[in-house]
Amino acid sequence: MRQSQLFTKTRREAPADEVAKNAQLLVRAGYIHKEMAGVYSYLPLGLRTLNNIVKIIREEMNAIGGQELVMTALQDKELWSRTDRWDDEKVDNWFKTSFKSGGETGLGITHEEPLTRIMTEHISSYRDLPVYAYQFQTKFRNELRAKSGIMRGKEFLMKDLYSFSKDEAEHKAFYEKAREAYVKIFNRVGLGDQTYVTFASGGIFSEFSEEFQTVSDAGEDTIYVDESKKIAINKEICTDEVIAKLGLKREKLIEKKAIEVGNIFNLGTRFSEPLGLSYTDETGVHKPVVMGSYGLGPTRLMGTIVELMADNKGLVWPESVAPFSVHLVSLGKEGDPSRRGGAEADEISKTADTLYDDLVKAGVEVLYDDRDNSVGQKFAESDLLGIPKRIVVGKKSVETGIFEVVDRATGNVVETPRAELFA
Ligand code: ATP
Ligand code: MG
Repeated sequence: MRQSQLFTKTRREAPADEVAKNAQLLVRAGYIHKEMAGVYSYLPLGLRTLNNIVKIIREEMNAIGGQELVMTALQDKELWSRTDRWDDEKVDNWFKTSFKSGGETGLGITHEEPLTRIMTEHISSYRDLPVYAYQFQTKFRNELRAKSGIMRGKEFLMKDLYSFSKDEAEHKAFYEKAREAYVKIFNRVGLGDQTYVTFASGGIFSEFSEEFQTVSDAGEDTIYVDESKKIAINKEICTDEVIAKLGLKREKLIEKKAIEVGNIFNLGTRFSEPLGLSYTDETGVHKPVVMGSYGLGPTRLMGTIVELMADNKGLVWPESVAPFSVHLVSLGKEGDPSRRGGAEADEISKTADTLYDDLVKAGVEVLYDDRDNSVGQKFAESDLLGIPKRIVVGKKSVETGIFEVVDRATGNVVETPRAELFA
């Protein structure tokens, strides 16, 4: 993509009311647009980044047998009343509205209820189980706090997978696989080292649920970490009894702030019983389906990557999620050679144009800064955008065929011959 064609511009200042580092940088770099507090649009660079995260999650969900679908945002009040999750006294973050034809509806906060009901039409026998179904879907939650940028949206993307199993043993086997898949996802996006499986409240057979918490001062949660065992306990349940049950020692636990990037829950029959999702086993006995839920927020994950990796110059993306892998920066200019730089700049532009075409042909994802800006401005903007590798085309490149390659994360510069740019 030629930067001269990209409609988004970078800006020096973030919105005055934006306090989160992730949103400040993403707005400044033109990745997102702030619509209202906690409500953000994803612009081309932001969407490319988000889609890369989604792709990684999708691959790992498919690898454990997940089948993708997408459910509706509008929710049926009657359905949610059956599980006692419609009432504002029970769930306090619904966005509710009413139909012109009469009756209320709400925008989906999560999807256990609708998927369980869907499954009543597809599951009736032990032969139909297990089933693992997931979606990437926009959730709506009337969140009170909006200080964490895209990490706490009122409208945000969630990957939610639900498992439907015959019994506890079958459920458990999948739950373990899901945990491993989550570990892979956090490794692939570069957060593996800082992300801890964290015991929290809310499990049904298992007593605990497990959260994936990424250590960061920008986090809203407090966890107690055992670094040697690479596990943690959420402060909410960190009692002497729980510490002992998990075989940990209080003196080894270190208090940290952390961001909950995902969680896995054993739901038991909490939804299948009230919604009548049951099956007939091998002996003809009716049994309720055993369920689990597995949440992960791609937008929160994107914000978390920014919080952990950005530096004082701007965004820093790991290769796996970056919107482009190469930022090709030409120090020449297009057009009239009599303007700044003259004929020499024209030669630089030609060299850069050809290199751009060749990189694209070789399948490299390139953002090409072909604009007529000052060198200082180009480099500052390139730093802000955070693309992992910057290839600089200057006078020397024209004369010797050597290009400066700058690593965004480390700032290391390597003089590289043209052929090696394709390696
Ligand atoms: P929190 O305690 O932070 O509000 P939660 O327990 O409500 O999170 P879940 O309902 O389990 O979270 O949602 C599953 C995943 O969706 C979370 O692990 C997180 O990654 C993401 N998520 C939840 N709420 C938001 C939000 N408001 N904005 C962005 N992502 C979110
Ligand atoms: Mg919440």
